[in-house]
Amino acid sequence: VARGDGVDALSRAGAEAADAADPLAGFRERFVLEDPERIYLDGNSLGRLPVATRDRLAAITAEWGERLVSGWPEWIDAPARAGEAIAGLIGAGPDEVVVSDSTTVNLFKLTSSVLDARGPGALVTDRHNFPTDRYVLEGLAAQRGVELRLFDGDPEPSTLPCGPGDVVVLSHVSYRSGALADLRALQAAASERGATVVWDLCHSAGALPVDLRAARAELAVGCTYKYLNAGPGAPAYLYVAEELHDRLRSPIWGWFGQRDQFAMERPYDPEPSIRRFLAGTPPILGLAAVEEGARLTAEAGIDALHAKSVALSELLIALHDARLAPLGFTLDSPRDPARRGSHVSLRHADAWRITRALIERADVIPDFRGPDSVRLGIAPLYTRYVDIWDAVDRLAGHVARGEHEAFDATPGRVT
Ligand SMILES: *Cc1c(COP(=O)(O)O)cnc(C)c1O
Repeated sequence: VARGDGVDALSRAGAEAADAADPLAGFRERFVLEDPERIYLDGNSLGRLPVATRDRLAAITAEWGERLVSGWPEWIDAPARAGEAIAGLIGAGPDEVVVSDSTTVNLFKLTSSVLDARGPGALVTDRHNFPTDRYVLEGLAAQRGVELRLFDGDPEPSTLPCGPGDVVVLSHVSYRSGALADLRALQAAASERGATVVWDLCHSAGALPVDLRAARAELAVGCTYKYLNAGPGAPAYLYVAEELHDRLRSPIWGWFGQRDQFAMERPYDPEPSIRRFLAGTPPILGLAAVEEGARLTAEAGIDALHAKSVALSELLIALHDARLAPLGFTLDSPRDPARRGSHVSLRHADAWRITRALIERADVIPDFRGPDSVRLGIAPLYTRYVDIWDAVDRLAGHVARGEHEAFDATPGRVT
């Protein structure tokens, strides 16, 4: 495959040429890179540390030491500030997002709030949705005695099994295959049937465009430690469309959701704004990291990031076809970039041992998703074209030489 300049696009020189022409190349230096040889393809599980975040965390830790409790008048608005920074990345209004708790807890809060407001419909999701999403729904179904309806396959607008009063939880991008759901069409189909959708944006926000308002989405949750690079355990966000603020109420009645929080003697009366979905004292260090991560993503621009993610993924898939398919790999992600998120899953009968060999012998970090997938995450802010080329080269070499066969076939506790 020749590039315009005559260089073979599938050669290492082709990858180097693509890096030289990459308008986002400079963003790589905005991250802490202690490990020049390491190829990190797991930014979809835990993003790298931005330099600005390292510095900001040092500053806010110092602030804690100096200001102690007098820091709160400023810190108290951090959940809304971080929410506003994320809102711009997901097509939400500035007052429609707050950062709080984990994705799991936020999913519970929003789904419960719909059940409380709209009566007992069924809870609907796909059988292969991310485990925590299914567990939250299983738990709610058991607690409230409502039906849990699991469907097979990727969600499709024409067959989405929902009706009036149901709550449907859908991942925008499948954590397993990387399949990208048609958010706008699915939202329209569900709304037409009288159902409410809670979107899970964990694998899309920060890597591809999300336009919640344009899609008339009502509710969404997502994490910040994947493509938004806010760090391990950084708090998640939730989105509630403004017109629902006065109709939905969090199932956790906490003081951070209370109107006039410091008028302490009053009974619970939630804030009219998105803040009503806050519960307890927010994690100020994590929130600072969310703000920095969102800012860096906004600076690069989501459309540019998406274009680079597609180009990197297309290179990876072309190299898979040329060099990995002959070694027993098959592509488990959609070939059409319009139907794909920002990671590529490859299946192989020996996927676990291959993942271990890659990490321990080749310094390439993907992750394993059972039973047989090697998942390669493509975080466009800091991944280079040569990283993709070198990763496939090392992967092909190790498998061709059978080096993975020295590793234990039983998956470990964290995969
Ligand atoms: C990563 C991920 C989560 C994580 O939930 P936490 O509460 O942050 O552990 C949830 N849903 C999906 C789809 C994910 O990919």
